[in-house]
Amino acid sequence: MSYKTTNPYNEEVVKTFDAHSDAQLDKVLDTAHRLFQQDWRQRSFAERQTIVKKAAALLKEQRDDFARLITLEMGKLFKEAQQEVSLCVKILDYYADHAEQFLAPKKLDVKRGEASVEIAPLGVIFCVEPWNFPYYQLARVAGPNLMAGNTLVVKHASNVPQCALAFEKLFLDAGAPEGAYTNVFISSEQVATAIADPRVQGVALTGSERAGASVAASAGKSLKKTTMELGGSDAFIVLDDADMDLAVKLAVIGRIQNSGQVCDGSKRFILQESIADTFVERFQAELAKLVPGDPMQESTTLAPLSSLSALELAVKQVGQAVEGGARVLLGGKRAERKGYFMEPTILADVKPDNPVYYQEFFAPVAMIFRVKDENEAITLANDSPFGLGGTIITADVARGKKLASQIETGMVFINSPAVTAPDLPFGGVKNSGYGRELSDLGIMEFVNRKLVLVG
Ligand code: NDP
Repeated sequence: MSYKTTNPYNEEVVKTFDAHSDAQLDKVLDTAHRLFQQDWRQRSFAERQTIVKKAAALLKEQRDDFARLITLEMGKLFKEAQQEVSLCVKILDYYADHAEQFLAPKKLDVKRGEASVEIAPLGVIFCVEPWNFPYYQLARVAGPNLMAGNTLVVKHASNVPQCALAFEKLFLDAGAPEGAYTNVFISSEQVATAIADPRVQGVALTGSERAGASVAASAGKSLKKTTMELGGSDAFIVLDDADMDLAVKLAVIGRIQNSGQVCDGSKRFILQESIADTFVERFQAELAKLVPGDPMQESTTLAPLSSLSALELAVKQVGQAVEGGARVLLGGKRAERKGYFMEPTILADVKPDNPVYYQEFFAPVAMIFRVKDENEAITLANDSPFGLGGTIITADVARGKKLASQIETGMVFINSPAVTAPDLPFGGVKNSGYGRELSDLGIMEFVNRKLVLVG
């Protein structure tokens, strides 16, 4: 395990970082725990709000500096990186402004006595976070938990160490005491040690099923509450009455944003037969127009993948798909240029016995399916180990809502790409994980809802 910055656009190793020793990790946990016990949980909402709002303000002021690090370390288009930083500002502000209201004691309507539920923080929350949205994933845990009175120890992905350090510094610059938010560069074995440590009270992970299963197993052994935001293979259903301009526009966003490395990106395009040819022709034409290049340049519309291993995995999966009988309608290969670029790719005829049918493509690779009616569309959409999100495009919103209620996922978007905002709950079911981040639901994951009853 090595923490290093490799620029995915030119493949250069820019900087490497030393990992924390076991003794350093122990000291971090101690500081976070002490701060929680002796200080942070006792502070008023107003005191915590001042710090979190200051962090939001600094992030806003320094947006482009923060954004440049994203593009450098994982290759995101600079304009998307700027949008990500702006979204983090909104998330921090949202929790700073609403936490007190979300966590207010609630009086219960009971038959005897007087009862209420008080909400208290739990302690040190340990977070394992991924590289695909290097700040947004952090803001989703930091905003609610710092405002709730928890302290955080965060293990970020090993390919975004500069983003990890920048976010830690943000809170220190905003006036957070040492131990409120601490980044650690540690191995998977040390993650297990941290989770087992009695000073840690909860564990949040965003990442792959593999990482989630491993971290959840460690947490289960020591009975720690967890939230898991894992992968997805979201359906994008286009019905026969859909506005084709909208469908194609949203399909391109849904599949290509962040070079396809979005957990709730659109990955399986389920098309009603009568519009399928038109959709595929137009979708393919749009993907073919994408321009790979320097993600810092405005003219670039296709970013590299985040790492060589991400690229190799995508190429391998396309190979498996073809061996299993799929047809490549577009792309299918590593782009012939420097950098970890994958050609925008469309696969057709992926049947249930194809090994990739149940897999997630974390790359600009779309799978196309044709169905005769709504029932077939829903059956296919639900025929997945994942259950994160999904999109339905239809001119008839009532029809869309009826289908939405039959889709087995944590989120459904009608005539909209998968969107995220501070006040929209985010999370999935099945192998996409459990628990919710963002909104009032997100701040309730790591708190003690304590009954107080007066007899
Ligand atoms: P990983 O799940 O491997 O990485 C996510 C985080 O988990 C990183 O911080 C990683 O650390 C850590 N991690 C990985 N394995 C363990 C472990 N056994 N114990 C403790 N921590 C661990 O994602 P990848 O980068 O490998 O991406 C692969 C797949 O993950 C994608 O194809 C996609 O399916 C999914 N993914 C989903 C995301 C989402 O938003 N839901 C985001 C990113 C990935 P380190 O970097 O040091 O290995």
